[in-house]
Amino acid sequence: MLDTPEAQFAIAAVREASVLARRIQREMVTGALTKDDRSPVTVADFAVQALVSRRLAETLPGAALIGEENAEALRLEEGVATLDQITEFVRSVITDATPEEVCTLIDRGGGEPPATYWTLDPIDGTKGFLRREQYAVALGLVRDGKVELGVLGCPELYGGSIYAAARGKGTWSQPLNESQSWERRSVSSCADAVEARILRSVEKSHTNVDGIGQLAAKLGVKADSIGMDSQAKYAVLAGGEGEIMLRLLSPSRPDYCEKIWDQAAGSIVVEEAGGGITDLDGKPLDFSQGRTLAKNRGIVATNGKLHDYVLKALSSS
Ligand code: AMP
Ligand code: MG
Repeated sequence: MLDTPEAQFAIAAVREASVLARRIQREMVTGALTKDDRSPVTVADFAVQALVSRRLAETLPGAALIGEENAEALRLEEGVATLDQITEFVRSVITDATPEEVCTLIDRGGGEPPATYWTLDPIDGTKGFLRREQYAVALGLVRDGKVELGVLGCPELYGGSIYAAARGKGTWSQPLNESQSWERRSVSSCADAVEARILRSVEKSHTNVDGIGQLAAKLGVKADSIGMDSQAKYAVLAGGEGEIMLRLLSPSRPDYCEKIWDQAAGSIVVEEAGGGITDLDGKPLDFSQGRTLAKNRGIVATNGKLHDYVLKALSSS
């Protein structure tokens, strides 16, 4: 199945990073957290990016990494305490890590993507992480604008799961703790929109929840849409537990361009499970435009069978 050195690296790194993220969440997200305290997710974001960056450098030296985070804020006087906390967590897996090395590792994820690159969202769904709901560690490999490989670590999905897909080799999942072997996943065979389940963001600032409600009515979908944070939505779709995933543009950000790390791993997980993914205009996702999907607008992912039907309803709305 997924036995190339790249796939083996990505699966091992995402598994290790997901376990670290879960530990940080359990230790730092406590009932005492005030509404605006983002420190647990800040620590987890940086620690995971440092860890994956280090594993990539060790396993596939010279490979390029494009990550969401950079260490600028950690290098300032005000960042010292946070950097110490991050380094402490990183040291639980890389015992000799220093604060300086942590910053250097994080900063390897900066810059513009070359033709072949890895892209990482260390904690996708930061709001879900803080609410103790869904979040994901997402790592994808892109060559010439197309995703070749994607791995999603979802510590809160079905008791902790990892989803991995490689071009032409299918989508597979396994419990994070390896208590069962890998299983091939495929999308739902539902061809009737009336029975479809729609997946969407929880955050109103990330999508158009009212617009999704209107589109659902037009499609004849009976069930209420399901709000879920992060690319865990793509894992759910790939496993046949939902049929339509919509990222309609939020009225607060009508010009928003998706980030490569928010879509790379999830898109191939859906495609290799037999599903389809395009932007709202039906265009394929183009990962050759720098750090964003600058040539695309929003996202529609489906089980494939319902894709044209959804696009048609969108184009006439
Ligand atoms: P979700 O979990 O579906 O809410 O998606 C989380 C991702 O949405 C984050 O990683 C952000 O990068 C991304 N995001 C931030 N602002 C927006 C926006 N205005 N529209 C769509 N996605 C956004
Ligand atoms: Mg994200």
